[in-house]
Amino acid sequence: MWTYLMKMFQKNTKTCDQCGVVLKKNDPAICLHGIDDGLEYEIYVCEPCCERLANEYDEVEEANLAEQD
Ligand SMILES: [Zn+2]
Repeated sequence: MWTYLMKMFQKNTKTCDQCGVVLKKNDPAICLHGIDDGLEYEIYVCEPCCERLANEYDEVEEANLAEQD
């Protein structure tokens, strides 16, 4: 457990998956993870990109709802 935590602290610089901006330790960012085609993935998205993705998702949802009518 401690080894794992030490690794996490040493590798605290990530890049945003969407725009490639470097995320520093204290920057607001979202870590997305899941399984795609049996492969586990973990991506980091900066806050502005996360908001943009959320807005796009809402638009897709609204478009899908509109199609159903
Ligand atoms: Zn970004």
